[in-house]
Amino acid sequence: MEDFSFIYKGIKVTLKKTKNRAAARTIINHIYGEMVVSVGARYSFDKAKEFAIKVINNTNLDGYNCLYGDNKYCVLFGKKYPIRIIQSTNNGSAFSDKELLIATNGKYADIDVIKSEIKKHYYSQLKAHLLRVIPECERYVNLECSGWKLVETLFSWATCNHKTKFIKFSISLATQNFQFIETVVIHELGHIMYNNHGKEFNDYMKKYVPEYRKILKSNKKSN
Ligand SMILES: [Zn+2]
Repeated sequence: MEDFSFIYKGIKVTLKKTKNRAAARTIINHIYGEMVVSVGARYSFDKAKEFAIKVINNTNLDGYNCLYGDNKYCVLFGKKYPIRIIQSTNNGSAFSDKELLIATNGKYADIDVIKSEIKKHYYSQLKAHLLRVIPECERYVNLECSGWKLVETLFSWATCNHKTKFIKFSISLATQNFQFIETVVIHELGHIMYNNHGKEFNDYMKKYVPEYRKILKSNKKSN
């Protein structure tokens, strides 16, 4: 059976038939506002669609881009920007305080141009922000990483290798507000010292970000 797609609340949902028996993991992609649902062989698409809608209704969509439907918008650092598309001889984009302007030459589907322009923009904006914030956080908690980079992983906001002290940040962090990003940086720096989420790690987080549980929960990922 073929995949089945539909749009709900500006999120493009794709149902994919799999051999697994149960409807498995669902992930909403922050950057592209897309969701993939693995549908077990015994599930009907109707049932899977119902399930996907329930997941979306239970998700705080504030931090997700909405690239489908009529009211397209892009979220950068917790702020929503309407997307305006214009026809041009070249592809390109410009962020103003009010909107994200995307120029497309019509050679590719608008959605592909939007996706690639947003990704480029996120890389440069998040990189510039982290270049300022990481040294500040390092001084604040008195811990230093050996280095860091941006990656496209969607399964977590960031990871820190306890041994090498190297941190990888997900590009989707660019959708989140500054307080959240700072909390993630401090969390990962904590893993230089503590290799788990035990009591000592908890005490560390409470010391530097007393409200950290509340902050991380506010932007909980759906998976
Ligand atoms: Zn952790």
